[in-house]
Amino acid sequence: MNKIQMNPIVEMDGDEMTRILWQMIKDELILPYVDLNTEYYDLGLVHRDETDDAVTVEAAEATKRLHVAVKCATITPNAQRVEEYNLKKMWKSPNATIRAILDGTVFRAPILVSYIKPVVRTWEAPITIARHAYGDVYKAAEIRVPGPGKAELVYTAADGSKIREEVADFNGQGILQAMHNKDASILSFARSCFEYALSVRQDLWFSTKDTISKQYDQTFKLLFADMYEREYKARFEEAGITYFYTLIDDAVARVIRSKGGFIWALKNYDGDVMSDMVSTAFGSLAMMTSILVSPDGNYEYEAAHGTVTRHYYRYLKGEPTSTNPIATIFAWSGALRKRGELDGNTELVRYADALDAACLETLESGKMTKDLSLLAQDITPTVLETAPFIAAIRETLDRKMGE
Ligand code: NAP
Ligand code: MG
Repeated sequence: MNKIQMNPIVEMDGDEMTRILWQMIKDELILPYVDLNTEYYDLGLVHRDETDDAVTVEAAEATKRLHVAVKCATITPNAQRVEEYNLKKMWKSPNATIRAILDGTVFRAPILVSYIKPVVRTWEAPITIARHAYGDVYKAAEIRVPGPGKAELVYTAADGSKIREEVADFNGQGILQAMHNKDASILSFARSCFEYALSVRQDLWFSTKDTISKQYDQTFKLLFADMYEREYKARFEEAGITYFYTLIDDAVARVIRSKGGFIWALKNYDGDVMSDMVSTAFGSLAMMTSILVSPDGNYEYEAAHGTVTRHYYRYLKGEPTSTNPIATIFAWSGALRKRGELDGNTELVRYADALDAACLETLESGKMTKDLSLLAQDITPTVLETAPFIAAIRETLDRKMGE
């Protein structure tokens, strides 16, 4: 059989159990069909330490050049990891480094199977959360106010002129916080959201608290609306999708009553909170993908979960593991599909679709990993260990590719 040819994508290898999954997925599910063409970067913690984390920066730069990347989960070092790996220093989170270089927005979307029922009964299709990843409360200045006094917000322009706003007159102890955002960052966020909505042909919702926050949140609303009117309205109409702004209170009520199947863009804090709520309500972190989209059209695909450390230590001791590879497989299929779409490579797109379908069909037949069996309703699960589960997907894929 002739293998499918492709242009290169960036491959970022990672750590622990997901690194084991990574190799199994390539060997069993991709290499038999695709003449896999990747620029390989080893973001495993050992190699990040050896290169003083330069490899992470190089991988992000390569993503700007090739436009598509797939990333394995990686360890974000903490004090315990510095000791465990004898690190030169506590390197920054690779995801934060890559996000900063690509100036991207993260889109998190669940993978649905029929027997894992969302807690919200009306949800039939995935809800994708787009979270702004800069500023607000995550880069705020705060003061614990010790006693009576006046608080002011002061802006000093480059020419020395000032704008002053009284915040509060304290008659006792209190708290104080000032936060900011930048038009450039909000516009990047907006562009990533509009581009992603077009790329997956789903409606885009955006919500803030603009009725109360008449400068801050209002600016988010206006910048989105302005970009939409100028640059995206016609393209959205052509694609048959809509852009919809509503107050966050209203959005929350509508999301709960909705059938799903749209993208919900949120400010930094709202996105942090709502993405945990929505992913929990859909079922399982092991069934959640995460896509970083930059405003100039670069895409990085990964699983939302971490390196599954506990399973890795069991694996190292030779004990059986039942680690769910689905989100990592979907990261690969997502990246390969995007490569195919950008290049007009229909064979590669068809392979990516078949790989997703093979995963879902295998799951729907009742074969699954342990984490899913604990959540499954109305089905008698066949619980498989990691490798046999991937082999079962391979069998389904072989059949689909033969058709
Ligand atoms: P985690 O790796 O997501 O795992 C937490 C627990 O969730 C696991 O112990 C396991 O539960 C369950 N789980 C997660 N993914 C699973 C899968 N695919 N299949 C089956 N069960 C799964 O989170 P963590 O333990 O907090 O973090 C471990 C390491 O990952 C840390 O070093 C962290 O820095 C890193 N991390 C990386 C990323 C990323 O690269 N994007 C994201 C998050 C965390 P049971 O043990 O109960 O089976
Ligand atoms: Mg959170």
